[in-house]
Amino acid sequence: MIELGAADRAAREEFVLGLRPARDAVDPSRPYGFFVEEEPRGDGGTLRAATILLTNRECPWHCLMCDLWKNTLEAPTPKGAIPQQIRFALERLPPADTLKLYNAGSFFDRAAIPREDHEEIASLARGFERVVVECHPALVDDSSLRFRDLLGGPRLEVALGLETANEEILRRLNKGMTVADFRTAASFLLRNRISLRVFVLVGLPFLPRKEWAAATRRSVETSFRAGAGTVSLIPTRLGNGTLEELRRQGQFQPPTLRDLEMALEDFFEGEEGRAPATGLVLADLWDADALAAPPCCAAARVNRLRKMNLIQRNLPLPPCPSGCRHS
Ligand code: SF4
Repeated sequence: MIELGAADRAAREEFVLGLRPARDAVDPSRPYGFFVEEEPRGDGGTLRAATILLTNRECPWHCLMCDLWKNTLEAPTPKGAIPQQIRFALERLPPADTLKLYNAGSFFDRAAIPREDHEEIASLARGFERVVVECHPALVDDSSLRFRDLLGGPRLEVALGLETANEEILRRLNKGMTVADFRTAASFLLRNRISLRVFVLVGLPFLPRKEWAAATRRSVETSFRAGAGTVSLIPTRLGNGTLEELRRQGQFQPPTLRDLEMALEDFFEGEEGRAPATGLVLADLWDADALAAPPCCAAARVNRLRKMNLIQRNLPLPPCPSGCRHS
């Protein structure tokens, strides 16, 4: 068994890469997913976000919990492919207010999204109020300012994966950054009139389950203190090989639907006892059906979370006909 805590970065990379299952077949002329989802506006209203999952070159980091590489290319993305993918999706999606361009890595990684395509991407985004892209903190630099200026009308929002504010776990996740790196990137974005969204994991490897709630709370607070307008709670999911191995070793338990519910409930319940929330917290429900939950009430409970995301307050758990007690 590899002791990840003591291993250096090279050993962690070897561990992560050695356990990977096969990559999915993807086409650089097509996004690997696109859909419209609802999000709260922050003023009580709801907005529609057109979300396009872009096919591009794999992210150069190899985070221990990441399975996004499955739908990526091994070679640099051909020039023109990203605008082609965006056009393909927009022609098929209903109208929306926000455009999310998620590329399973960093939008400002030039091997993933060629710089030469930024202008055309910006022109395709022109009718939207807001454009959200994701990026590793290490790649947040002047290129984000140039893209902000190319956009013209729409407000740029950059999503950073903090994952956790627990420095030791962050290192063991092989994220290649510290909490201070995250703060530096966040502060650069805010100083330059770019909004900040943050991804926080629910369910951490190497940490006992009873400590998850406190870790999530601290990560959400760290995100808001860094200026986040939105924090998205993402349940850590199996599927990349590494987490399966850590589960086998007793170092990871996949989070259940109840863990995600408690993370969101905790944030809303805590409102009175802490400083007023400066932003929105969302439970990420993209893969919620895969979370362990009793079949009798899982769908109703995911639906409750969807509503809580929109109204930003708690709702009672739905009655459970079989008496499973929402385990
Ligand atoms: S930086 Fe993000 S996309 Fe890249 S490997 Fe880590 S989690 Fe995955």
